[in-house]
Amino acid sequence: MSRTPFIAGNWKMHKTVEEAEEFIQGLLPRVYAADAVDVGICVPYTALTPMVDSTRGSRVGVYAQNMHWADQGAYTGEVSAPMLTELEVTGVVLGHSERRQYFGETDEALQKKVPVALAAGLTTILCVGETEDERERGDTERKLRHQILEGLEKVPLDRLGEVVIAYEPIWAIGTGLTATPQQAQDACAFCRALVAHFSKDAAEKVRVLYGGSVKPDNAKELLALADVDGALVGGASLDPDSLGDIVDAAA
Ligand code: PGA
Repeated sequence: MSRTPFIAGNWKMHKTVEEAEEFIQGLLPRVYAADAVDVGICVPYTALTPMVDSTRGSRVGVYAQNMHWADQGAYTGEVSAPMLTELEVTGVVLGHSERRQYFGETDEALQKKVPVALAAGLTTILCVGETEDERERGDTERKLRHQILEGLEKVPLDRLGEVVIAYEPIWAIGTGLTATPQQAQDACAFCRALVAHFSKDAAEKVRVLYGGSVKPDNAKELLALADVDGALVGGASLDPDSLGDIVDAAA
């Protein structure tokens, strides 16, 4: 089974519209020829429409960084799937560790959000990963099992293969520490094996990304791993040349 590599840049709470426009003019020529790689930028809500317009006809998809499960309602500050699809957004990142840590995102909420996003036609990136303590205690697999089985439980089997899982060890996010290739491969293979718990066919199709201090100089080694189908890139995605170099490493 060949899975198309996927490099997604997660800007987090960075870039005004003006800065986003400058970035995308730098990125587009860099990824023009990378026709074997899916490229995504996960941008603040305020930059969604400008980035959708600026990437039209290119191979760069535009992703939101969160979404509510309800279509509408009394949820001040939230944004729904129909609101994203109306803007022709490609997909959404759900369950990033920063949302879990600072904004109370739970596995129960994700269990509702993931099927809603898929049903809306959004490419859905579900983020999972262990803390440093959990790894040291030998609890990495227990944590991943919980997050993936809960998060995917309500996804219809015929849509499961479309989900993208981002394995991001929390101790490697924004720290400059990267999982070793063996740690990344083991955890990503374990994530895939958990999908096989629901469907073997879907497990073959699901793309598993590694995230956590991916940079141009470590991307090639990580992306060559058997169960790593791409990367979710934070800090290094803020610069178009760095993200372009990581896309090149995946091609
Ligand atoms: P980082 O962030 O690449 O800066 O470690 C990754 C992420 O949070 O998705």
